[in-house]
Amino acid sequence: MLKIRGLRSGYGRIEVLHDIDLDVPEGEIVSLIGANGAGKTTLLMTICGSPRAAAGEILFEGRDISRKQTFEIARAGIAHSPEGRRIFPRMSVLENLQMGAIVADPSHFGKDLERVLALFPRLKERLAQSGGTLSGGEQQMLAIARAMMSRPKLLLLDEPSLGLAPLVTKQLFENIAEINKAEKTTILLVEQNAFQALKLATRAHIMVNGRIELSGSGAELLNDPAVRAAYLEGARPQTEVGEAAR
Ligand code: ATP
Repeated sequence: MLKIRGLRSGYGRIEVLHDIDLDVPEGEIVSLIGANGAGKTTLLMTICGSPRAAAGEILFEGRDISRKQTFEIARAGIAHSPEGRRIFPRMSVLENLQMGAIVADPSHFGKDLERVLALFPRLKERLAQSGGTLSGGEQQMLAIARAMMSRPKLLLLDEPSLGLAPLVTKQLFENIAEINKAEKTTILLVEQNAFQALKLATRAHIMVNGRIELSGSGAELLNDPAVRAAYLEGARPQTEVGEAAR
């Protein structure tokens, strides 16, 4: 569904992504993990057209979108739930969801709202509440729900678990699995919670200093000694690391 070849991108004269090749096949959950500053957010933003790719190709369903405007990319079927949630804090939950539907056909708004609220029942009870007064976990649910209002074929999720308590994170990863399975939405997931991201992924990539250093299935990377040493041990409770090794 998404095929990236030889991608270079960055800010002004600073190149952050160096010659990235990456595939996101239809129906899969692909996880991208890496340390702070590796370039994960820059990759998701470049897919959405800002910053623009300096070189290389981003093919979405066979068409090169690397020169398209952000709204055209959204209309083509790619939705982005950005790092730090970026919901509209003074708008109500319902208004935030309406904003997410802006690129969608208005005739199926009611149906899409129902679908998204079934995924996140907590938001249903809070439709009139302003976004900024939601808890961190609820704001993250809203950011994902807003992205889902455009009926995306490909959902880009940037650090959904950032700053959330373990139980809330667990719930959120269940939601992400459900979106992939029930809604048949393909997902590219950027995470620092390497254990959860690898557990969920059909395939995964490790990004280091703007390059893909290692790729494999989620299970392969969970069991890779170098990955475990760098991203899992010490970062997650030992029971989870033990589970990863089995
Ligand atoms: P994190 O997990 O901390 O969000 P990341 O892997 O998502 O890290 P990016 O946010 O993509 O990394 O940042 C990659 C590099 O690009 C960093 O060195 C960062 O300082 C730089 N960078 C990010 N945004 C900008 C910007 N708007 N202008 C200039 N440099 C930027």
